[in-house]
Amino acid sequence: MRFYLDYNASAPLMKEVKEYIISTLDINGNPSSIHNSGRKAKNILEEARLRVAELVNADKESIIFTSGATEANNIVVNSFDNLITSKIEHESILNTAKSIDIGVTPEGYVDLNHLDEVTKNIKNKDRSIISVMIANNETGIIQPIETIKKIAKKNKVLFHTDAVQAVGRVPVDFLEIECDFMTLSSHKIGGPKGAGALVVKNKKKLKSFVKGGSQEYNLRAGTEAITSIAGFGMAASKTDLSKIQNTRVVRDFFEKELLTHNNDILLIGNQSNRLPNTFMFSVPGITADNILIALDIEGFEVSTGSACSSGKVEASKTLEAMGFANNILSSSIRVSLGPYNNYEEATLFAKTVKKIKNRFLDSKNDLSR
Ligand code: PMP
Repeated sequence: MRFYLDYNASAPLMKEVKEYIISTLDINGNPSSIHNSGRKAKNILEEARLRVAELVNADKESIIFTSGATEANNIVVNSFDNLITSKIEHESILNTAKSIDIGVTPEGYVDLNHLDEVTKNIKNKDRSIISVMIANNETGIIQPIETIKKIAKKNKVLFHTDAVQAVGRVPVDFLEIECDFMTLSSHKIGGPKGAGALVVKNKKKLKSFVKGGSQEYNLRAGTEAITSIAGFGMAASKTDLSKIQNTRVVRDFFEKELLTHNNDILLIGNQSNRLPNTFMFSVPGITADNILIALDIEGFEVSTGSACSSGKVEASKTLEAMGFANNILSSSIRVSLGPYNNYEEATLFAKTVKKIKNRFLDSKNDLSR
């Protein structure tokens, strides 16, 4: 039996999305062609644009489709001279040399005083932007976006937020947040991989870096990936926040059961304002990749809190920024749930962690004998 507990990495494709994608596969046209087949493809594209816009309460014309959130973030990063961001952003924001990365408090929130100070003193304010995510992908901790927006406005710099992990889990309203740009990803909400969007208030502020066509309001050249975008739109229209309260109750039960069966584990960020589907824990003394592999053998699919790139496991930069010691950084596991996870899984998970822990501790004791 398999238990999928890794929705923040990628949510399973929704059934309705799969059916809709299949129904679009026979459309031959290029959405830029003016004949009948082209217009059919264009209709699919524009319907998806409307659905994604409605999901975050934005105007349809403000949606720029991209190949994913990574590309959407790159468009923002590459359009400005100065980027003021946090140490806990996704790699696609932090990959730029020109960024000033603001630290976070031990509770996981961006240091607002430092953010304000840096923004106040930044040169070329009209070529500068603050970028802070709504919710962190590892801990699920939700940033004080309202205050961050005020800091941006007061200091007359633009504001971008990566809403990838927040959408579908907490209300996200582009107009209410009053940000200038917002990043979205299809596969985190039950759509297919390979589609995302940048929601844009003023297109003139952006530079396109994929050139060679006038698609997506001249901001992203290339024939639109109709199949993925159609699926993204359908996932957006099927996103239902009313189910999330149940996920929160199940997540809380997972944590309770973990502590009941394992009194030595540490829950991370559980006192902070968090996404309802995410939690992190650390099993001191056992490295996260060892726990992850052992859990996978037992049927549970989770993530380590650390980034794994090119086969190299690195310490979690989010937990590092929060000031956790090395033994916690190297032993943290992220669990991210969806609507199908339940109480039985929670109890089985907690008991399985205990079993794995005892096995590791026994083998350590054997070796030391
Ligand atoms: N931002 C955040 C916060 C993410 O969690 C992710 C996915 N891990 C991305 C951006 C990148 O998304 P995509 O896979 O659509 O490129």
